[in-house]
Amino acid sequence: MITLSTVLRRYTSDVAIGPVDLEIPPGGITAMVGPNGAGKSTLLTMIGRLMGMDAGTITVGGLDVSNTPSKELAKKMSILRQENHFITRLTVRQLVGFGRYPHSQGRLTVDDERRISEAIDFLNLGDLETRYLDELSGGQRQRAYVAMVLAQDTEYVLLDEPLNNLDMQHSVQMMKHLKRAAVELGRTIVIVLHDINFAGHYADHICALKHGEIVAFGTPQEIMAPDTLSSIFNTPIDVIDGPRGLLACYY
Ligand code: ADP
Ligand code: MG
Repeated sequence: MITLSTVLRRYTSDVAIGPVDLEIPPGGITAMVGPNGAGKSTLLTMIGRLMGMDAGTITVGGLDVSNTPSKELAKKMSILRQENHFITRLTVRQLVGFGRYPHSQGRLTVDDERRISEAIDFLNLGDLETRYLDELSGGQRQRAYVAMVLAQDTEYVLLDEPLNNLDMQHSVQMMKHLKRAAVELGRTIVIVLHDINFAGHYADHICALKHGEIVAFGTPQEIMAPDTLSSIFNTPIDVIDGPRGLLACYY
């Protein structure tokens, strides 16, 4: 379980995220949705202890993120931020290998190498593993970063818009893979998604943010309603019962 209690981040006198109270249940996928600037990345990076809070407490699997040693937290939780991915002269395999750092401290064992290969295979990067990051397309690079996070092999996984730049095939593959990790391995996955239909289809819970506050939290069945969605996203949205479940139409 991830708990946030009265978590607040004040950027300027008129922009503040929170105070937020939230419980993200263990296991399954929780999707964070909401308009640009709602505070999704701010919340996720505070949970992932990449950004400090001005007030409040966050715990992840019982560990208080503000006073648990990074080394211990890194075995419990991994995070992929939305931006600031480092693009250096690293190959895909070397990058994914960084995901093992909390376990190996840089000396990769046979088991580490196996997990690196698994993560590379899961994201369909086998043919690209010796390529340098600056020789990849945006979507291929995005997959390499997700592979790095998965190789870290943590119970809690936080991903900020991992479907950015991905084509339909790879978006669907990634969501199916994350779903499997949640169901079969009991991972707790918190993912910021831009496309409400991906959230509706794959998430177990949807957490909607707007103006730095949580305005809705529930199952996809509960959130995928025309009034709820239209109000979250400030645009008229219809919901139709499609061949594969509820579908938001806003075009
Ligand atoms: P989201 O991920 O939902 O699009 P963010 O968490 O990135 O939203 O941003 C939430 C709000 O905080 C936005 O209004 C944004 O402009 C503001 N913000 C983000 N980072 C900073 C910063 N470093 N300084 C000032 N304001 C910021
Ligand atoms: Mg964001």
